[in-house]
Amino acid sequence: MATPSSLRRINQRKVVRALLSVGTASRADLARLTELSQPTAGKIVDDLLAASVLEDASLVIDPSARTDRPKIGRPGTMVRLNRSRTRFLAIEMGVVRTRAAYLPVAAQREDQWTHEIPTPKSPEELLAKLGKALPRDPNMPLDAILVSMPGVVDEAGGRSLLCPNIRWMERVNISRLLRGLFDAPTVVVQENRAMALGQLALDPDGDDFLLVELGDGVGGAAVVRGRLYNGPLPLSGELGHTPIIGNVRKCGCGSTGCMETLLSQSGLISSFAEANKKAPKTWAAVKKEVEDKGIRPWLSKSLEVAGATIAGAMNVLGVRRVVMSGWINDLPEVVAHQLSSSISRGAMWGRFGEVAVDISDKHRMAGLVWAGLDRVMFPVSDESMARSNGGGVAEDATALA
Ligand SMILES: [Zn+2]
Repeated sequence: MATPSSLRRINQRKVVRALLSVGTASRADLARLTELSQPTAGKIVDDLLAASVLEDASLVIDPSARTDRPKIGRPGTMVRLNRSRTRFLAIEMGVVRTRAAYLPVAAQREDQWTHEIPTPKSPEELLAKLGKALPRDPNMPLDAILVSMPGVVDEAGGRSLLCPNIRWMERVNISRLLRGLFDAPTVVVQENRAMALGQLALDPDGDDFLLVELGDGVGGAAVVRGRLYNGPLPLSGELGHTPIIGNVRKCGCGSTGCMETLLSQSGLISSFAEANKKAPKTWAAVKKEVEDKGIRPWLSKSLEVAGATIAGAMNVLGVRRVVMSGWINDLPEVVAHQLSSSISRGAMWGRFGEVAVDISDKHRMAGLVWAGLDRVMFPVSDESMARSNGGGVAEDATALA
């Protein structure tokens, strides 16, 4: 049996998840959306209002109507996730840039980082730069520090096991490091998994998909039955390190021929430069070629490789939808179209039904906030979740470092 407190947290998560996707709702709407009884939903909403996780949306929408504003607790009152009270500090460790922002519970749909620094070259430099950019305000207690990390990440251990582009991260427990600066628990999420969580939180219909990020590297994360897929190893979604026959490029992981040496943004620029000896080795030049001449053989081959690898992963996971983001958003539509048809040819579900290939913006910030809610504010064990038959974006609640 789930204990009363874990049941309450499961119900709180249901309400928060519903508000993440619909934005604003009444108690009656929330009861319907979460399939809770009206009194239970009402009680959960009152608790969350008292904890400043939710706020009364009717008070904010029309400040002129103060005299007859509805009383808190009235069934028709509209509520939403709290947008004003800072709860989290989110940090996105990128290969080149590190970004940060203070966030309330109501994360924006689009990533909007307020602070940005070149990614530090040592843990000491990270502390010094973050300390300077984000001075601690004792009047603003934080519930958690949310950190998105690239590479192969041991989320529970708070460290990176393999990060060829930021080597020092492999030697440092980031949770312990940040505790010296901020007095709050740290939640570490692998960067592609953070984005998959954000996609899941914001898209109420997307319970099964493979997320693929085509960026500085190529990474993925799977969501199966509404849950972020967790393998037995601290490693999953490593599509980018699938060896491609005939590819002799050295990869940062130490291997040769990995898919990401062809399909990362810099991999594409290299292939373009090999095919166009005199052209500038820039992303702008790649874009211009596609705009002027369409998809030339060097790009076509790479897209076929990507399509086959992605389709292979979908076939193993048993999902029919892939959500892609990154440079694919920046090239003419014809590129996404060819990659989609390559995926559809390889995805076996195409023989029985429809394979969906969607292009999306990055929702890493929303994913980090969800991880904070999930692991720090409403932690519920996987067992309780399974017994309660869901409750939204579930993942390992024991991963709090
Ligand atoms: Zn590799």
